[in-house]
Amino acid sequence: MMVTMDITNPPIRWKQIDTLLLDMDGTLLDLAFDNFFWLELVPTYYGKLRGLSDEVALAEIEARYAQVRGSLKWYCVDHWTQELGLNISELKHEMRHMIGYLPGVVQFLRVARLSKRRLVIVTNAHPETLAVKLRQTHLDRFVDDIVSSHETGHAKEAPEFWPLLERKLAFKPGNTVFFDDSEPVIEAALAYGLPHAVTIRRPDTRQPSRDSTTELAVDSLAELTPDIR
Ligand SMILES: [Mg+2]
Repeated sequence: MMVTMDITNPPIRWKQIDTLLLDMDGTLLDLAFDNFFWLELVPTYYGKLRGLSDEVALAEIEARYAQVRGSLKWYCVDHWTQELGLNISELKHEMRHMIGYLPGVVQFLRVARLSKRRLVIVTNAHPETLAVKLRQTHLDRFVDDIVSSHETGHAKEAPEFWPLLERKLAFKPGNTVFFDDSEPVIEAALAYGLPHAVTIRRPDTRQPSRDSTTELAVDSLAELTPDIR
């Protein structure tokens, strides 16, 4: 039997919430770009460079991804440029027209801004990737601050990341809501002691919603726009 959550009445007391910590890719921006980039475009270029079929290229690439997934290297443009022999930064720049917001997110951000809460993007994106995405979306106009985990030396999946973030931003965990589409990241935030960590279940508009094992989950931030007024 499917258990559905009553998302119109989330167990978060919004009046007490003064800080929103927002993941970028898959939470604010459509992960369709990243999935296309890493699972289609990069394997194709990689295969062409080595004379491999698409299937063999994808299998080789996925094996390389699996070795570093969840670590800072996984998110590092320099690592993949070196590892794959492709100019990842340049490729991202060429494909930048495909970068876009998830449906309803601009409205969510406008309402969140009007509510006078502090908005901070907390991303694993490498600074070069971040720069391309900000140039394309002007996402920075909606937020007070942006933290890339690369500044801290630890990915969001790592327990070491969270005390460093709290020290940097001086947020109160009880008055803060954190949003992310990655369950390992959500679990790290909960383990650290952030009581309100919300999973985004539909980070890629080309894919259906995913199942979530965490307590708080929504398909999209758009569902919460009425709550944050
Ligand atoms: Mg994400």
